[in-house]
Amino acid sequence: MKRILVTGGAGFIGSHLCKRLLEQGNEVICLDNYFTGNKQNIIDLLENPFFELVRQDVTTPYFIEVDQIYNLACPASPVHYQYNPVKTLKTSVLGALNMLGLAKRVKARILQASTSEVYGDPQVHPQPENYWGHVNPIGPRSCYDEGKRCAETLFFDYYKQNQVEIKIIRIFNTYGPNMNPNDGRVVSNFIMQALEGRDITIYGDGMQTRSFQYVDDLVEGMVRMMNSPAAFTGPVNLGNPTEITMIELAEAVLEFTGSASKLIFKPLPQDDPKQRRPDIALAKKHLDNWQPEVNWKDGLKRTIAYFENIVAAKVAKEAT
Ligand code: NAD
Ligand code: UDP
Ligand code: UDP
Repeated sequence: MKRILVTGGAGFIGSHLCKRLLEQGNEVICLDNYFTGNKQNIIDLLENPFFELVRQDVTTPYFIEVDQIYNLACPASPVHYQYNPVKTLKTSVLGALNMLGLAKRVKARILQASTSEVYGDPQVHPQPENYWGHVNPIGPRSCYDEGKRCAETLFFDYYKQNQVEIKIIRIFNTYGPNMNPNDGRVVSNFIMQALEGRDITIYGDGMQTRSFQYVDDLVEGMVRMMNSPAAFTGPVNLGNPTEITMIELAEAVLEFTGSASKLIFKPLPQDDPKQRRPDIALAKKHLDNWQPEVNWKDGLKRTIAYFENIVAAKVAKEAT
């Protein structure tokens, strides 16, 4: 049994990770300030005596004794991370600094949830880890992209200067149950719009691509990365290489929900990447042949089932 700290543990990915780590027989401390996370995501875990919930901002120093740290605290959807860009930067940079200081003090191994956004609007396709990226340092996405890039730098400097055992994963678009229905990301937006009979909002012409990974595949990769040999620091891409356009995604959502919603076109946000697909050769090589197992259409159906319950609960609440 290990004692493991998960920052951002009440969020979408963090909640799945906490559950998985508990199932493996670990003690889990979940640190979250509930900015985009939700107690509901982890409500089932609260009965477990080996689960502890701490309301704390990761930008504030935090002292505890742990064996491993997964650093996930950071808003992830463009709508949320652009709401208060200075706070987003503080969360990425000061959050990483505090968690690295903690890891150094207690000699814990620490994993950083970095992102495909470090590649910006990529000019190399698909993106391997040795691509340095194409990022606008002063645009609307910069607080997130540059914050995550700076966090990676801090991780490597603590590794080189203080021999902290670091692990960096670059997560590509991930979806699944426990996504915040209002967080503005494309999968949750399209599903909620379809289920509520609202228009489906396609930004731009809908021909931009993304590669969507089901959350269970990511969590498997994260845990394998954390427990891989110390010499393998990453950064390593974790994503599903199947690339689709936003139009294809919208059509699948309409088909699986049976919705009659119409597609409407809205302006493409500034600096919106045109295409994104991970090269996962490194993960396969170092993480015991890791690769995504869940086909995007199957994952989409499971996610729709989750959102159907959310919508039903909302309707029932409004009726009382
Ligand atoms: P999320 O918004 O659901 O979860 C983030 C969690 O961090 C929330 O519970 C939030 O309340 C918490 N948080 C935010 N700021 C905090 C602060 N200052 N102090 C303490 N807690 C704070 O997002 P997610 O999709 O679960 O993302 C988790 C991590 O994975 C993030 O670091 C994100 O950048 C990274 N990531 C996610 C994706 C994706 O597609 N979901 C892709 C790339 C990287
Ligand atoms: N820190 C923390 N918990 C710890 C140890 C350190 O939050 O258990 C914070 C500490 O407050 C500092 C940061 O991590 O802001 C970096 O710590 P480090 O010891 O590397 O640097 P220093 O304190 O010497 O600036
Ligand atoms: N998008 C869209 N309609 C929406 C929300 C997003 O067409 O209602 C597009 C967005 O412009 C982007 C893609 O879907 O091209 C993925 O957006 P998301 O915010 O989910 O993630 P990111 O841009 O960070 O990959």
